[in-house]
Amino acid sequence: MTEVAAVVDREARHLTDLDSAIGDADHGSNLQRGFTAVRTLLEKEPPATPGAALMAAGRTLISTVGGASGPLYGTLLRRTGKTLGDAERVDLEQLRDGLRAGVDAVGQLGGSAPGDKTMLDALDPAVTALADGFASAAEAAGQGARATVPLQARKGRASYLGERSIGHEDPGAASSALLFAALAEVAR
Ligand code: ADP
Ligand code: MG
Ligand code: MG
Repeated sequence: MTEVAAVVDREARHLTDLDSAIGDADHGSNLQRGFTAVRTLLEKEPPATPGAALMAAGRTLISTVGGASGPLYGTLLRRTGKTLGDAERVDLEQLRDGLRAGVDAVGQLGGSAPGDKTMLDALDPAVTALADGFASAAEAAGQGARATVPLQARKGRASYLGERSIGHEDPGAASSALLFAALAEVAR
């Protein structure tokens, strides 16, 4: 989470630029506010387990990020954390099971699926590729995000643009790729 906060700080401007093309130009600042609050909370109250850390992070995103991405990323982290339970250590397979449950919860909350030009286009292939390790997951997330460029958005603000959403990378897919890039960086 600390590394995600750092990466989001570095890339906030880029995420907001992406959102200015097909949204309302706040995705970078939304996530920066959210993950700054997450970093502060985790430093102040270090959680006992990975699951507790993710659940606290998810709650914080929900309460600090206005906009679609707050509840969606909040749900991703909360559900992932809940699935990890109170294990003190988790291995790759447990993390993958947790993230799979988290990604499914995002699709349920958003009424969305891969192909709709949302964060799920990066999250879903990343979790699948996590079976081959963190680097593969990050690679798959980046590919998934880039593959949103030719898609027409079916969910979220970008869907209001209809065909004019074509030709732009989805900001949420781009931030999801950053999340997995941070995870790969920490794992390395
Ligand atoms: P807002 O659109 O409210 O300003 P953000 O700009 O922070 O919120 O986040 C926008 C991103 O949220 C989109 O790029 C997309 O990836 C994601 N998103 C929006 N709606 C949905 C949905 N129904 N399902 C999944 N992801 C969504
Ligand atoms: Mg926005
Ligand atoms: Mg907004």
